[in-house]
Amino acid sequence: MSEEIFLCAICNINSGTCLEDCKFCSQSVRYKADIDRYKQKEMQLILDEARTARDAGALGFCLVTADKGLRPKTLEFVCDVAKTITKEVPQLRLIACNGTASLEQLLVLKEAGIKAYNHNLETSESFYKEICTTHPWSERYETCQNVNKSGLVLITGGIFGLGESEEDRVSMLKSLESLNPTSVPINFYHHNVALELQANPLTVDESLALIRLTRKMIPKAQRIMVAGGRELMFGDRQEEIFENGANSIVVGNYLTTSGRIASKDLDMLKTLNLEVAKKVN
Ligand code: SF4
Repeated sequence: MSEEIFLCAICNINSGTCLEDCKFCSQSVRYKADIDRYKQKEMQLILDEARTARDAGALGFCLVTADKGLRPKTLEFVCDVAKTITKEVPQLRLIACNGTASLEQLLVLKEAGIKAYNHNLETSESFYKEICTTHPWSERYETCQNVNKSGLVLITGGIFGLGESEEDRVSMLKSLESLNPTSVPINFYHHNVALELQANPLTVDESLALIRLTRKMIPKAQRIMVAGGRELMFGDRQEEIFENGANSIVVGNYLTTSGRIASKDLDMLKTLNLEVAKKVN
């Protein structure tokens, strides 16, 4: 395991407007969660967030839209944002996370300066229909295959604590491994009272074991990233994620929930003698 930790920041450039029914997602309009909802974030705000992320040591900057996939207007917007950030904040490595995507759409994003695409499998194929009825898991898998065909770097992972079984977790990790991702973001469900799901039943020890299992089952991945739910799940035991196999974290805020300030994470890494990655391998 590398002693360097890759930091990534996420930017919700469109929020809370999705018509799908993923039961863990407060961005679906169906559940009326109390979150910010907007069609397009202003470019100046996006640039401010990009500069803040760069100054906090982030290398990755992920442009996220809340929709099932890339409508023509969304694709155009993501490309505009990518070109603007490439010009104004060139130190960042741009990632797009815009739902299901065709090979043609991914090639357009690549041309605009996007380097990697994130699309999570979320959970196992068999459990997926319990948490989403509006689109099939197979579309998710196909999008990941399209990413590999496009030459973009594939980032794909999932979310634990939705009520899935241990077999579901192993099945998802096997599916992820079959896609040969460069980075595997794992999320821990952060309960919102507006959602139908029960609160995340996982303990800290079980969650640390899941990081170890992810590392063990996807040994070729360059990065195992602990993404959403880190603060809530690990509390004052967050430093243990690194000794259990994680080498990447999301800094700053998440899509609809607040993270802790980046300086706390940087202090934590310093105390642990872990370097912040300055370039992508
Ligand atoms: S498709 Fe994405 S944004 Fe829409 S509800 Fe599902 S997880 Fe949320």
